[in-house]
Amino acid sequence: MTDLHPDIKRILITEDEIQKRVAELAAEIDRDYQGADLVVLIGILKGAFIFTADISRKMTVPHTVDFMSISSYGDQAVFDGAVRLILDLRKPIADQHVIVVEDIVDTGHTMDYLYQTLQGRHPASLKTCTLFKKERNSLEVPLDYVGFDLPDVWVVGYGLDYADKHRTLPYIAELKKEVYS
Ligand code: 5GP
Repeated sequence: MTDLHPDIKRILITEDEIQKRVAELAAEIDRDYQGADLVVLIGILKGAFIFTADISRKMTVPHTVDFMSISSYGDQAVFDGAVRLILDLRKPIADQHVIVVEDIVDTGHTMDYLYQTLQGRHPASLKTCTLFKKERNSLEVPLDYVGFDLPDVWVVGYGLDYADKHRTLPYIAELKKEVYS
């Protein structure tokens, strides 16, 4: 057993479990888009950079990868109500098959904002993919591909951070409550 960082309470999802599930999601997407000329994966920075890289390399359907950057939390794990677009796509997505790739959906506000914003650019189709979903989502934004359900705790690792730390852990871990509250 590796020593855990003192901020971390426990490992929730192991590296093997994540990799297996990412492969399953990639296979599901490959099946759904069989015969498509091209799919555009839009990874949401920074949290989804590792997930986007991994799922992209496991997909066999022809696809390109682009990124957007969104900010909805400050350094604290507290939602301040505003979703901000920090970095936009490099190319238009009109008439393209688009999949938004997010790290985690909590209240759903961020995914809702992304969905509305991208839908307004008239893609041929738009689907959503998130590796993790918490139980608080009360919005109606459709989640087409979901990796794991998570309890309502702050998690880090596999691209997810707390104050920009812990992103490169290969597993998903629960942060100790006293660190973020
Ligand atoms: P939502 O808008 O759905 O409430 O929040 C989604 C965003 O909040 C995610 O893209 C992610 O950046 C951040 N987020 C929500 N829960 C967690 C968490 O447990 N850990 C980390 N690192 N980020 C989270």
